[in-house]
Amino acid sequence: MESVRNFVSGELVDAAGGRFLDNVEPATGKVYSRLPDSDERDVERAVAAAEAAFPAWSSTPVEQRSKVLLRIADLLERDLDRLAHAESVDGGKPLTRARAGEIPRAVKNFRFFATAIVHFSSESHATDRDAINYTLRRPRGVVGCISPWNLPLYLLTWKVAPAIAAGNTAVAKPSELTPMTALLLGEICNEAGLPPGVLNIVHGLGSKAGAALTKHPRVGTVTFTGGTVTGAEIARAAAPLFKKISLELGGKNPNIVFADADMDRAVPGSVQAAFANQGQICLCGSRIFVERRAYDAFVDRFVAATRKLRIGDPLEDGTDQGAVVSRGHFDKVMSYIALAREEGGRVLAGGGPPEGLPERCRAGFFIEPTVITGLDATCRVNQEEIFGPVVTVVPFEDEDEVLEYANGTPYGLSASVWTENLARAHRLADGIESGTVWINCWLLRDLRVPFGGMKHSGVGREGGEEALRFFTEPKNVCIRYAREP
Ligand code: NAD
Repeated sequence: MESVRNFVSGELVDAAGGRFLDNVEPATGKVYSRLPDSDERDVERAVAAAEAAFPAWSSTPVEQRSKVLLRIADLLERDLDRLAHAESVDGGKPLTRARAGEIPRAVKNFRFFATAIVHFSSESHATDRDAINYTLRRPRGVVGCISPWNLPLYLLTWKVAPAIAAGNTAVAKPSELTPMTALLLGEICNEAGLPPGVLNIVHGLGSKAGAALTKHPRVGTVTFTGGTVTGAEIARAAAPLFKKISLELGGKNPNIVFADADMDRAVPGSVQAAFANQGQICLCGSRIFVERRAYDAFVDRFVAATRKLRIGDPLEDGTDQGAVVSRGHFDKVMSYIALAREEGGRVLAGGGPPEGLPERCRAGFFIEPTVITGLDATCRVNQEEIFGPVVTVVPFEDEDEVLEYANGTPYGLSASVWTENLARAHRLADGIESGTVWINCWLLRDLRVPFGGMKHSGVGREGGEEALRFFTEPKNVCIRYAREP
């Protein structure tokens, strides 16, 4: 059985305590590898390696740093099939999705920040004719990068690439549920010539290895993507040490369909937003609101399109829907479907595990894409993040009402609005409380834009310049040049 190992100072090492955790393949429900059960000793070792690498890396000329990152991107691209296969086995997602979407995005993350850093510039402010101020932006030191299981390599590289592009060194803690592509990334970094210690990867439990990293006194910067409850814990640990933190958290995103929408785009777009990656994307549109006069027709078409999604072995080419990530997550999602029934919901599609799975997948964690109607916007199912293939459809009368629904949860990550009315699109975009609003689309990403959440969906923004600013420390230098009066 393959063992994942920590990556410290360019070397693959086991946890100091010699302990391992099981790694389960979600499509089969079977243990297929193991990973180090790291603790604070392993984090200390990784932080020491990152600290040792910092002086040389932070003073390496930008163009040279950029070249190494571009090489990493090229090697990720070369190994795309291998990485996509690893990601699919590890997380239960369709191989086609990993191959077409997620691994290419990891490549882009490195390429984007490799070039962005070359163009990164800073401000200057002329103070009358007395003085000139300029802002020096320097790397901050050792950065902790904690990432979740739903888009493992995509989100890990979304943090690591800008952090090291900006001249920091990093200690990453990938999710214990999906460690495999992080292991491969370490090997690729060595091959690309990334100096030892610039990126270190420590595997293990969030409550142990993750918590040790968050509270480590010499890790002054922490970027975290994951659940809102974990985000609060990280904020609590980081606050007394005055760490700079970026928190990308959960969502309960509205997908709003007006009667004037182009339904040939709105229906498949909403299906995609609902069920991509088995609904396990923080940006998934899990609350669908439809203008009342289009409601019945929309529901019919939406349910028909949902039923057409092929659920099966993630490694098979025709599969649209794979397994959810773990037994624990399967139970959580199923408990919300039960709650929806208790709350008076009608299940129009899905509602449980599918029949007719191939032999290999019989003990896997599969849930049919599930559509529920008959619930009001304030019930628990419409308030809490389920993070699985479960959506509700709720009718609304007018803009004011749907805006109240859209903003009526503690979250504020993203929203989609489907309408052909331009003025209405702008009004909704202005009124919706979320970090991203998509009009007539979903998950159309440009890596230059600020990305993050409002309210309980996060603190701070990543992406483009925002990321490079986050990973650097601004220092103002004021030079007086006026003669004394
Ligand atoms: P999670 O919060 O359970 O875990 C995320 C990471 O944090 C893992 O690596 C985990 O080991 C670690 N961790 C857990 N407890 C920790 C602690 N006390 N201290 C330090 N680290 C700790 O989240 P998850 O279940 O892996 O991911 C799903 C969640 O992530 C969902 O809520 C989803 O909405 C959110 N998410 C948000 C975004 C975004 O960009 N806003 C993107 C993807 C996922």
